Amino acid sequence: MKKVFPLIVVLISLSVVGILFIQMSWIYNAIELKHEEFLREVDNSLKESKEAIQHQFLSKQTTQYVTRKAQQYFLENNFTSQIWFTKDELHGIIDGVLRENNVKQPFEFCILNIYKDPVFISDGFHVEDLQTAFPIGLATDNTSMNQETLYLSIHEDKNVVLRQMWWIIVASVIFTTIIVSAFVVTVRTLFNQKKISEIKSDFINNMTHELKTPLATISLAIDALTNEKVIHDTDKIKIYSSMIKEENKRMNKQVEKILQAARLEKEEIKLNLQKIDAHQAINKVADNLALQIQEKNGTLTLKLNATNPMIEADEVHFSNIIFNLLDNAMKYSLDAPHIDVETFAHGNGMLSIKVKDNGIGMDKETQARVFEKFYRAHTGNLHNVKGFGLGLSYVKAIVDAHLGRIKVESAPGKGSAFTITLPSA
Ligand code: ADP
Repeated sequence: MKKVFPLIVVLISLSVVGILFIQMSWIYNAIELKHEEFLREVDNSLKESKEAIQHQFLSKQTTQYVTRKAQQYFLENNFTSQIWFTKDELHGIIDGVLRENNVKQPFEFCILNIYKDPVFISDGFHVEDLQTAFPIGLATDNTSMNQETLYLSIHEDKNVVLRQMWWIIVASVIFTTIIVSAFVVTVRTLFNQKKISEIKSDFINNMTHELKTPLATISLAIDALTNEKVIHDTDKIKIYSSMIKEENKRMNKQVEKILQAARLEKEEIKLNLQKIDAHQAINKVADNLALQIQEKNGTLTLKLNATNPMIEADEVHFSNIIFNLLDNAMKYSLDAPHIDVETFAHGNGMLSIKVKDNGIGMDKETQARVFEKFYRAHTGNLHNVKGFGLGLSYVKAIVDAHLGRIKVESAPGKGSAFTITLPSA
């Protein structure tokens, strides 16, 4: 997978570049072909104009030169456009021939004699046009003295190809964009899948580790219980069985946490909304954690000053989220945790609960990701902090289900504060 993936990316990129290159060379070839066709059409038109002018010249003569040879001789020695044609007549002849040859662009012309003096010049013809104009001798080729040269100035319409092929170009731009976008989406999805599979394997490692510790303790306790010396000592039996009970409870809690996350995944949050006193619920959770905080020489200060603490919430989920926030505040502290819980009511019928700690804090990237499922930041000096990275994603899901908000303020080394805001009852 590691090597196939970049190879696929390179191959598809090369193919897209190749397709673009082929399309561009097609368009370039089409422009070239069109240019050659234009030159051919102009060349034909010049030859046909010459023939038409010669033909009209001969038919204007009073003496009829019936044989081809006689006509040739007359053209060679007596041809001149000057006295037999007007400018408009010549314009009409050239215009007719060009139209027959499908050349529709406007044109200008001039006729110069052998000394390069102008015989006729159309109104829009400029001297510098002589550089780019297409020339043809009007009399026969072996004429020496009375040769006149017709210069046809006509601008090639370079956009004609683009105009004819516009829908092919637009379609190919659209399809190429679709291919490139689909490619980008595919690559992104593959990267996400890779990230998810990494997160999942992290989670499995984590979970195995979390469940192994209580299992090992239980196994040791059972070994002790079967020990001859212990089996007759009721006090020890009590100690070991309560140990087993405790570890069992812990494992149950872990499994419950994982099941809770799985349930959230399926969007199965069913809230049992009631009017509850947030202060009472917070006090209950705080009482449960008081012992643990004391053991760590920490303090938990409650500043429950909101005038109206009543909220419309699910009591169990609400207690769980307060517990999770307090538990994290304790877990992510290097020294004795000092935790403040504040409540304040907003004028707009919302109640905020802020849980603030003096712990390790978080950088901006962690703050942006803490509510993602399975996300766990590297906690540096804080080793052995257990968790699945599910607590805060659960908190966020429950707050969202209550149509509330959650925000985090933190700085590395300076502690963190989580504020949840829920609708008052
Ligand atoms: P867990 O605690 O099980 O790892 P959580 O979802 O509760 O999962 O938290 C996710 C991550 O957010 C934690 O791994 C930790 O890095 C960070 N975190 C959460 N709360 C705090 C806090 N109070 N102080 C510092 N970091 C925290």
